[in-house]
Amino acid sequence: MDTKALAERVRSGERRALARAITLIESGREDHRADAVALLDAVRGSGEALRIGLSGTPGVGKSTFIESFGMMLTGQGLRVAVLAVDPSSARSGGSILGDKTRMDRLSRDPNAFIRPSPSQTHLGGVARRTREAVALCEAAGFDVVLIETVGVGQSETVVAEMSDLFILLLAPAGGDELQGVKRGIMEMADLILVNKADGDLKPAAMRTCADYAGALRLLRKREQDPDGFPKALTVSALEEDGLAQAWQDMSTLTEWRRAAGHFATRRAAQAEYWFVEEVRQGLLAQLGRPEARAQMAALAQDVASGRRAVSVAAQEMLRRLERGLDDSPGTA
Ligand code: GDP
Repeated sequence: MDTKALAERVRSGERRALARAITLIESGREDHRADAVALLDAVRGSGEALRIGLSGTPGVGKSTFIESFGMMLTGQGLRVAVLAVDPSSARSGGSILGDKTRMDRLSRDPNAFIRPSPSQTHLGGVARRTREAVALCEAAGFDVVLIETVGVGQSETVVAEMSDLFILLLAPAGGDELQGVKRGIMEMADLILVNKADGDLKPAAMRTCADYAGALRLLRKREQDPDGFPKALTVSALEEDGLAQAWQDMSTLTEWRRAAGHFATRRAAQAEYWFVEEVRQGLLAQLGRPEARAQMAALAQDVASGRRAVSVAAQEMLRRLERGLDDSPGTA
């Protein structure tokens, strides 16, 4: 494959080339991976988008928000890409965030690009490929890349690790409880948006927002934040209310972080994180190869039957991996 030519077409902003490039990086085939790596290297350093991570439980209004917010941005002449990290796609092979009809208007906007979550066997795989797709979207000249995830478990963390800003979308709470949002997730948020602040739900949305604003003030101050951040706001994705304010706050925060050097520091730390992750996953993939699995199984039996101690067998396996698995089982 001519990865240089594909890289050139991606860089010139050709949507079909971008779609094809993302399909390439999502491929599980080993020969495709080599091309994908060459492609990513060829586009490295081109373009710079603001990467915004967005998390929220099903039903809070993520797709409604992304559609309204995305349309507002394209209306300002910005090019917007929407990607997803969908942990359910890891399990089922199908993607609930993949349904383009959820963002009907935005998907028809020539200045928007929507890509469903890749389906992979595990969240780590989904996340690594999405991060590479972010780089491709940047190279293709997008100004804003929105990375959406369902707020369940680990996926917020991996999305925050590939975002410049992390936004938590919430719905108005019925009672006065803080909706069971985990402290760790709150601590990652740069902006909490309480959606559905319209009609009958408006008073509840305002109460919820005040509760979260209070909770955010109790968190330890982070050095990457100017005064007043992280912040909680009410919005209505449906009525397109509060979205301009939210964008204003995102811009203010980004500008401040750029000026203070935190923007670049965070990206550098993220690059390191993903490098380590890629190596880790590469090692795990080696363990998944048939020869390795056979040797693991043999050693596991030795351990189970008491013929070898756990640590001895583990060391033996690691030694074999280091040598490239070339020696036959049992030659300890
Ligand atoms: P997602 O699962 O987080 O993507 O949520 P959706 O965007 O699909 O929205 C879930 C439901 O909430 C839909 O019925 C939307 O019409 C509704 N919804 C989304 N945003 C708003 C809003 O700002 N106000 C109101 N009242 N309803 C909304």
